[in-house]
Amino acid sequence: MSNVIEIASVTKRFGRQTAVENVSLDVPRGVVFALLGENGAGKTTLVRMLLGLLELSAGQIKTLGLDSNRQGLAIRRRVGYLSERPTLYDWMTAAEIGWFTAGFYPDGFEFQFRKLVEQFSVPLDRKLSQMSKGMRAKVALSLAMAHRPELLVLDEPTSGLDTLVRREFLESMVDIAAEGRTVLLSSHQINEVERVADIVAIMRAGRVLLVERLDELKSRTRELTITVAENSFSPPPVAGEVVRSRRRTRQWQLLIRGADDEQLSTLGSQQGIVAVESRTPTLEEIFVAYMQAGPSTVSVATSSEVPGAAYDMNEPQM
Ligand code: ATP
Repeated sequence: MSNVIEIASVTKRFGRQTAVENVSLDVPRGVVFALLGENGAGKTTLVRMLLGLLELSAGQIKTLGLDSNRQGLAIRRRVGYLSERPTLYDWMTAAEIGWFTAGFYPDGFEFQFRKLVEQFSVPLDRKLSQMSKGMRAKVALSLAMAHRPELLVLDEPTSGLDTLVRREFLESMVDIAAEGRTVLLSSHQINEVERVADIVAIMRAGRVLLVERLDELKSRTRELTITVAENSFSPPPVAGEVVRSRRRTRQWQLLIRGADDEQLSTLGSQQGIVAVESRTPTLEEIFVAYMQAGPSTVSVATSSEVPGAAYDMNEPQM
């Protein structure tokens, strides 16, 4: 089995609200897979469904080859899960909570837990109620990792933590993937994700807008600033998908996916074009462009066809 998670046409409704809409994506083994989206995009709902904690309204999810609607318990035994707000028994020490949780897992859990907690420099004999937020987060992560799960699911693992702790967390995720295990990480800390993710999925309003290997996404995406000779309401035609375009008098700023470098290099010599600047955007810029795009988000533009839906015709935004 090369995919640890297979999500096929999944929808989740809460009453009349649709939290996740017709989402399909696969998570291959041995990667750090980041689910990005703003508050309310549907990340937690998707995570809870793939762990069998929420029933699907439609579609199917296979996690580690198991059906999420029917085999949730078996999934959760094999997956390490760190929720957005982990519940920890405050009156216990780190050592006690490790011993207590070990009861639910095969032999070796407690030994591994103590090792992780010590690696994170958290005192085993300190009560959780007397720990800092960062220490508690490290205990929660150690609990999620101590049975050496082949899949680790982390929902906003670094929110509220300071820079050093965040860095430690992220480094441990890269180490896990290097061992051939898989990390699914939900986050809105785009800059951090950029440092560790192999694959990113961008969610907005319950839908997945994009799933791509980060290195490919970055090598195929360009931020173009095109200066045109005459003011125009439509941007110069370019090859690739125009994710977002905006205009400031005679300058167009386009974020293009699937950019064709050869075509871009000849763009500057086209009639009516004064100058073209091209650069690779950061993941954060790509993410923001997706958030700013119109409801239909991406239109495909060929050199003879100009998309309309993704255009933001509002006056100066740059
Ligand atoms: P955040 O980053 O803020 O955690 P998220 O991307 O994880 O956001 P979800 O928590 O999955 O988003 O929420 C998606 C949508 O579903 C939101 O509009 C939320 O209000 C709604 N929702 C989530 N859980 C429930 C529930 N139990 N009942 C009703 N609506 C819900």
